[in-house]
Amino acid sequence: MATSLPHFESPAISGLNATSLPVEMPFERLRDSYGRAITDLRLSVTDRCNYRCIYCRTGTDGAQYTDLPIADYAHMLRVFVSLGIEKIRLTGGEPLLREGLLDLIREAADLRPAFAPDTKLDIALTTNGHLLAGLAKPLREAGLQRITVSMDAVDAETFTSITRVPGSFQRVRDGIRAAQDAGLGPVKVNCVLMRGFNDSQIEAFAEFSRTEGVIVRFIEFMPLEEHSEAPGHRAWAPETVVRMDEIVERLNAVRTLVELPPNHISETARRFTFDDGIGEIGIIAPVSRPFCGHCSRIRLTSDGKIRTCLFSQTDHDFAGLMSHGTCDDDLRIWIRRIIQRKEARHHIGEPGFLKPSRSMVHIGG
Ligand code: SAM
Repeated sequence: MATSLPHFESPAISGLNATSLPVEMPFERLRDSYGRAITDLRLSVTDRCNYRCIYCRTGTDGAQYTDLPIADYAHMLRVFVSLGIEKIRLTGGEPLLREGLLDLIREAADLRPAFAPDTKLDIALTTNGHLLAGLAKPLREAGLQRITVSMDAVDAETFTSITRVPGSFQRVRDGIRAAQDAGLGPVKVNCVLMRGFNDSQIEAFAEFSRTEGVIVRFIEFMPLEEHSEAPGHRAWAPETVVRMDEIVERLNAVRTLVELPPNHISETARRFTFDDGIGEIGIIAPVSRPFCGHCSRIRLTSDGKIRTCLFSQTDHDFAGLMSHGTCDDDLRIWIRRIIQRKEARHHIGEPGFLKPSRSMVHIGG
């Protein structure tokens, strides 16, 4: 059902000229035109990455967008939190490359959700884990609560063939263990499966979850890669996707799976354990079982653009508006208008599907 917010539709607001606007009524939760509450912000703090994963990056192109000063991200966070954002996930590029990250986490940890001021903001981070062993403790001390480590194989050789960085498997595994020791457990380990490349790893990942005490989450491959003709590069095709049904069937052959209830309504993963209760597996199936109906997310890129969907064709220049000295009340009005245009759903696999205007690494996954 479409919800209209007429008092946010002032014709005076148009991009960078939003200067003389009525003061917005504060403390109304951010909602899109489909009534979905927007509570979850993915913030990319750098466009740089130290891995060149073959399904994500060309291997030759580096960062394409600028990073903003940490103080700007902190300001943007405060505005978003005043609108009802309750969960923040810091990402990139590779967020652990970003100088000032700990300062940003400290600032975020001081904020309180506008609609639940007695609770803490949920602060999480997604990393490739390469620098995590040395940073896990400072991250925890700064106020980070949860961490997700991307890891697409548990076989060291296969892992290196994906990241194109020698010795990366040991680094990431040590990072995961350091995160657990620092109190950031249970660590989530995300694996994007690609048929004929790392789908042989499904059973070994089940074992990894059970022995390492991590939550392994298999993710269906989405058409979000940088474009490349380079050898070894994995371009998206429907046949490359390893779908949820197949993953469940193969895990069940290892040991009987038992489904767990979702943690909350906008949970993207179907959760499972095994019949002895040891290990946890999540399956995130945006291709075979899209979950857009419960989407509560928006994204902010490293150069300060708001994206309302991973598959958006456009973005919205928050940093530009801020740099013109727009006051926070006007920024809030502008954000509400943008959120009204949030896409209903993605169209992966449908005729006429258009790839988004940025690839995953330049949006922030
Ligand atoms: N560097 C950090 C990391 O490796 O986690 C954060 C950025 S990375 C782009 C975020 C996540 O996006 C990773 O878990 C990665 O596997 C995932 N990802 C990248 N391309 C993807 C695609 N085409 N489909 C599904 N997930 C993808």
